[in-house]
Amino acid sequence: MKTRAVSGLPEIHAGDDLAALIDDRFDFEEGDVLCLASTVVSKAEGRKADFSAFPPSERAESIAERLESITGESKDPRFAQAVIEESEELLTDAPFLLAVTRFGHITVNAGIDRSNVPDADLLLLPEDPSASAERLSEALGVPVVVTDTSGRPFRYGQRGVAVGWAGIPASRDWRGEFDRDGRELGVTVQSVVDELAGAANLVAGEGNDGTPAVVVRDWAFGDHAGSEELFRREEDDIVREALRNWEFD
Ligand code: GDP
Ligand code: MN
Ligand code: MN
Repeated sequence: MKTRAVSGLPEIHAGDDLAALIDDRFDFEEGDVLCLASTVVSKAEGRKADFSAFPPSERAESIAERLESITGESKDPRFAQAVIEESEELLTDAPFLLAVTRFGHITVNAGIDRSNVPDADLLLLPEDPSASAERLSEALGVPVVVTDTSGRPFRYGQRGVAVGWAGIPASRDWRGEFDRDGRELGVTVQSVVDELAGAANLVAGEGNDGTPAVVVRDWAFGDHAGSEELFRREEDDIVREALRNWEFD
């Protein structure tokens, strides 16, 4: 497998034709997969926002006050308001905001970014990243994975994860295949889009590299069954349930 960053992409603005900007700078081949940082998808879709758009509710005020008293850092209640509005549910509101986004991805602060956002306070995730991936995939003729850098439980450090995808199943199912001892695999469903997102995010970088688009080449999904499921269904999610009943003190 090879990964290559698309070079020379400009700063992206609302209304930009992201597919055309990428197509002009890269010759795609059959089998390529395009991984794209959600940051630039959001920018193209006009998802920059200012604090002024989020007048804080009482709930946002009290969340910000509590966070400030826990962390000792000043917290803007308008940021808490933006997270609330971008979320279906807050699983925790202290010591950080763990949000279920409207499209099902669970992440801190609903994935709202404050870095790599010139001329605005905030950058919201795309409203429906898989719909964005679908449009880009249609225009470019290759599968597309929209990525974000996200923390994960149990481990330090952030990594790239898939928040939307199109033209490729979310995972590939190894169940029913055999290991080297001939033992049948019973549970392994590999999250292909997350693994591609992780590789691409490593190449894209987190700072000022200017390389949000990374093409994966010479990798094949192979002859496996695929599944569209990535975000765990509520009824299968014991961690979500546990967090709902947990109180930080
Ligand atoms: P996220 O992981 O989706 O939140 O995005 P990051 O802020 O970590 O940025 C990922 C990559 O995209 C980095 O290489 C950034 O420098 C780059 N990047 C972010 N915004 C832009 C942009 O508007 N234009 C270009 N060319 N690169 C960008
Ligand atoms: Mn991000
Ligand atoms: Mn990132």
